[in-house]
Amino acid sequence: MHKKVLYSRTSCQKFRENALRIFLIRFSRTERRVITVTKTKKRYLITSALPYVNSVKHLGNFVSSLLPADIYARFLRQRGEDVLAVCGTDDHGTPAEVSALEAGMSVEKFVEQMFKKQKDIYERFGLSFDLFSRTHTEENAELTQHLFLKLYENGFIKEKEVQTLFCKNCKRNLPDRFVTGTCPNCKYEHARGDQCENCSKVLDGIDLINPHCIICGKSNTEIKTGNHLFIDLAGVEKKVKKWVDSHEEWPKTTTSIANSWLKEGLRPRSISRDIKWGIPIPLKGYEDKVFYVWFDAPIGYISISQRWAKEQGDPDLWKKYWKDPDTYLVNFIGKDNVPFHTITFPATLIGADEGIILADFVKAFQWLNYERQKFSSSRKIGIFTDTALELYPPDYWRYYIMKIAPERHDTDFLWTEFRESVNNDLADILGNFVHRTLTFVNRYFDGKVPKTSKLAKIDKDILALLKKTAEIADKELSELEFQKTLLTIFEFARECNKYFQTKKPWAVLKQEDKTDAATTLNICIQCCKGLANLLAPYIPFSAERIYQYLNLKENVHQASWSSVEDKIANDHKIHSEPQPLFKKIDLEEIIKHGLEWGGDSIKEVLEKNPELDPTKKDIEKKKKPKQEKKKTETKGSKTMSKEMITFKDFQKLDLRAGTIKEVEPVEGTKKLLKIQVDIGTEVRQIVAGIAERYDPKELVGKQIVIICNLEPAKIRGVESNGMLLAADADPEISILTPVKEVPNGSKVR
Ligand SMILES: [Zn+2]
Ligand SMILES: [Zn+2]
Repeated sequence: MHKKVLYSRTSCQKFRENALRIFLIRFSRTERRVITVTKTKKRYLITSALPYVNSVKHLGNFVSSLLPADIYARFLRQRGEDVLAVCGTDDHGTPAEVSALEAGMSVEKFVEQMFKKQKDIYERFGLSFDLFSRTHTEENAELTQHLFLKLYENGFIKEKEVQTLFCKNCKRNLPDRFVTGTCPNCKYEHARGDQCENCSKVLDGIDLINPHCIICGKSNTEIKTGNHLFIDLAGVEKKVKKWVDSHEEWPKTTTSIANSWLKEGLRPRSISRDIKWGIPIPLKGYEDKVFYVWFDAPIGYISISQRWAKEQGDPDLWKKYWKDPDTYLVNFIGKDNVPFHTITFPATLIGADEGIILADFVKAFQWLNYERQKFSSSRKIGIFTDTALELYPPDYWRYYIMKIAPERHDTDFLWTEFRESVNNDLADILGNFVHRTLTFVNRYFDGKVPKTSKLAKIDKDILALLKKTAEIADKELSELEFQKTLLTIFEFARECNKYFQTKKPWAVLKQEDKTDAATTLNICIQCCKGLANLLAPYIPFSAERIYQYLNLKENVHQASWSSVEDKIANDHKIHSEPQPLFKKIDLEEIIKHGLEWGGDSIKEVLEKNPELDPTKKDIEKKKKPKQEKKKTETKGSKTMSKEMITFKDFQKLDLRAGTIKEVEPVEGTKKLLKIQVDIGTEVRQIVAGIAERYDPKELVGKQIVIICNLEPAKIRGVESNGMLLAADADPEISILTPVKEVPNGSKVR
């Protein structure tokens, strides 16, 4: 029988009312005092920088906009807020056309295919945008043209004569990336018509020395003179500055870049291009030109919302989000996008004067580097989102890259750190706590949540900490502090493990009176649920699995953070066969990835441990071909994973019973215990990795089985003469012990 889980709804509601208020603490520059501004907004609008369509994005792109936008949206939805989160591919521009040419496809088809590919990857990562669409849509064309005409009417569009390159061979214009040549600045020979990749200088096609058309590869070019359109927003500069200045709560990354651009002043920018792929310009004399991609891309945020509104059957619904100042608008972007989001785009919106709101918060991220070098799409450096999903489940990446999110300064993706984060944080801290709790409840309480009796201080403390953690995390994530929040939640997970370790339910369960173990496990169950609630925005798949193992009817993504206090009822039946949430990653596996994709951290590991180098192992394998062959021949039945041995082989093992006399932890390690075992003829010292499962005191006096003729080894500098036998049911471990006591030194056969 499944008992109904009771939640108190009143605490949820109260929480939501509070959540509608956003407290912004500002430090006034001049007065150095804290000003608290209270804003009350009715709804949230979230945008993530639109990933450019022509290639699959790397983890550096992913961490700076797409992922945090999703986490923030998930968090707000859990709070019961009205949220609209949109994103899509940025489809226009010459890079897409060039990539399509290289792929031998029409640009239309190529872009559509790449859009679908990216969309699929993000879905598999669990990104929960209300709509992930694109900029090559009717809505975007219409809105871009509309805003342009408004700017034109309001006097912000100017005409200017400019020189452009033309290929006489192909009879076409060569804007931006359609031309390559030698950089006039650094003399790099493959500079592109828009920018030199080598020295980063922004270029114009006509600046290039010895320009080549990328279509025919020839240098048969001429300079043509023609009219182009420019947007001149110097007139709204003051308004933009006022808006930027009114947001001192923004990250430093955002304000410092915005201010340096404002200092330079808003210069006229070209917004027309001599190509066909893009949105046509609705102006006489410009029929053969399209808008420069930078102009229509950010308008995509609005047009994607329009498309979403249409899909909801209410075409005007987008206005509620984009035209009502009661909306709190947050942009998630990488730092390269700050000038567009704090200067150019807001200036465009102010200039068009169509009542569209400006962002309330521009969350800009610094760079995530790959193994101490820059991620690069063009040079294929780093891990790309599609590869990432082939290697590990999405939550592993989501957790690690948010843990190292470059919120204040550049950070590094390191394979070794990725492994440590998955193994230590996800598997050992979170996964282990949840799995132990569920396993114990299944084993000792028939899978039913046991009753609590009188709570001791330690029990009350951990419950109070859960509540406090939810409050702090809520405040931190409201302030868009992604790393801080994750640290806060994992600090609580660590405390949960400590609680389990201190209360030792395994020891109490052996006693007649199980009430204290029952109390402990009840509280641990509540903490598991709390952890799932709090971690749902970050690791949505694993959080949902915890909910499934707890056999809760509600979806974790609908459970508010305030509901961490709502208890799962006594006798509620949990899932009978929970599996570990995370799988640890072997060092060898990570070395393999590091060697395949490149990585300094792996080189360092191999310098210290050359024996782990698989390229060297291959050589050793070749040296012993006979042994290898024998192994495959004797693989045996499906259920037996190891090769068969003879009884004679087994007799080689000197297995004996012995009694544990002394146990102490090995200094500087979490897992190792130094154990003295009396085997009748002598006292043997062995080192065993069971410290996380057994309390030293609990082991003294226990009779165990050890292998006496195992080669002595030094483990962390401590000598080990033998090995104890234990059943490994990862993460649980159980030491083997004779059922009846026998004289020490008795042979095991
Ligand atoms: Zn250059
Ligand atoms: Zn050509």
